[in-house]
Amino acid sequence: MMKKKTRLIHGGVSRDPHTGAVSIPVHHASTFKQNGVGNFEYEYGRTGNPTREALEKLIADIEGGARGFAFASGMAAITAIVQLFSKGDHFIFTDDVYGGTFRLMTRVFNKFGIEVTFVDTTDLDKVKSAIRKNTKAIYVETPTNPLLKITDLKMISSIAKEHQLKLIVDNTFSTPYWQAPIAFGADIVLHSATKYLGGHSDVVSGLVVVANEELGEEVHFIQNSTGGVLGPQDSWLLMKGIKTLGIRMEEIELNTKAIAEFLVDHPAVEKVFYPGLESHPGHSVHKKQAAGFGGMISFTVKSEEKALSLVNKVKYFTLAESLGAVESLISVPPLMTHASIPRERRIELGIEDGLVRVSVGLEDVEDLLEDLEQALE
Ligand SMILES: *Cc1c(COP(=O)(O)O)cnc(C)c1O
Repeated sequence: MMKKKTRLIHGGVSRDPHTGAVSIPVHHASTFKQNGVGNFEYEYGRTGNPTREALEKLIADIEGGARGFAFASGMAAITAIVQLFSKGDHFIFTDDVYGGTFRLMTRVFNKFGIEVTFVDTTDLDKVKSAIRKNTKAIYVETPTNPLLKITDLKMISSIAKEHQLKLIVDNTFSTPYWQAPIAFGADIVLHSATKYLGGHSDVVSGLVVVANEELGEEVHFIQNSTGGVLGPQDSWLLMKGIKTLGIRMEEIELNTKAIAEFLVDHPAVEKVFYPGLESHPGHSVHKKQAAGFGGMISFTVKSEEKALSLVNKVKYFTLAESLGAVESLISVPPLMTHASIPRERRIELGIEDGLVRVSVGLEDVEDLLEDLEQALE
């Protein structure tokens, strides 16, 4: 059995079977010569491309699933998964799901008759009571954005199994390096690979892994029919990123822990949201299902003005949306990623005016701490 960092490098196809190249070649071909009608390895670039396929085998391998699929963005991946379902089907979603997913379900798929209920999936009774006759799937994020709420994957999967629902997990925040939802009973795992998997802020992409071949056939049918595939160049960039996922996540873990502890002790900081803190309500559940806590921390300062002044003063935390890259990023969710949610609803969800979110990167932690210290003054 390969260990985790070894699998990131030697999993999947690992090297080019034809030349031995240790970096998988980028095949820019849109079509492939057939040896006779219907006698071919690859047919057409949308249906299959050797570079994309190497990435798809790699992600299936590291998530512990049967098959993997690469899409042009996380949203394209989520779209393809929803397209496995039909008009009249009902989904249960984590209530603070990624904003783009919320928009997709409430402004696009609503037009096609897909029904949704958003519930606090940390509360299993709420999940159970949201199940209807036409419910077909439960879709969770854990940890969530920006409050890092934790859903119990094992428990939610047993509810899903009992009611014959598919369990879909957006594993973007934890990555397969720390959390493997298929091992806890998920049917489908998906990623915005734009974040930690790519890891260098240089590619937009989405990945899907399914637990069994049957679902694999269904997803391939949708991927080929709707065509939101990832190009070969971006597939290569993603494989390059994934090779160092382990070492990045290990280092990010150390930096994040140090920053969380610093924030907890800082007088200008009111609340700190980080699943690695014992005071976090999801701490013990997260520890059962993941080997690390990840690089995301949210915290509150007194007011929106204080939050704005903080993000203007930092030098090493880049003010930007997105997360999971080598460089540390900072954002003010109520004014940026979550600005479209009405203030009243935001406060209800716990997204206060002075909420700041950081995605911790790979800089020297002493520099990051010094930077936060001067900016919080
Ligand atoms: C960014 C993100 C997405 C959307 O992915 P894109 O690659 O931006 O399309 C979905 N889910 C989560 C949790 C994300 O952070």
